[in-house]
Amino acid sequence: MKKNIIVINKMDVQLLHEYCNDNKDAISKSVMCGCCFCCEIYNSQQVCEYVDNNTCALCPKCGIDSVLPDINCQVTIPLLVIMHKFWFNNHNQYK
Ligand SMILES: [Zn+2]
Repeated sequence: MKKNIIVINKMDVQLLHEYCNDNKDAISKSVMCGCCFCCEIYNSQQVCEYVDNNTCALCPKCGIDSVLPDINCQVTIPLLVIMHKFWFNNHNQYK
């Protein structure tokens, strides 16, 4: 059985979170995007709303500005879950 192991540390998470801001250009170049808040993965063409002077993408699923484009990393559900835990656990609304 093949097992996928993700090696990720705090610095990776912080670095990746930078891609959630000022990411309009990155999203236009990416194929898939993932949301660190709702942990959904979708086609980057589904992203159509931006905030912060039209620079920061809003998730088409939940409306939070935590969209991660796949241009810098492979966007996977486990990665999004790790980022969600890191960034949103302190004010987790789903508990
Ligand atoms: Zn979302």
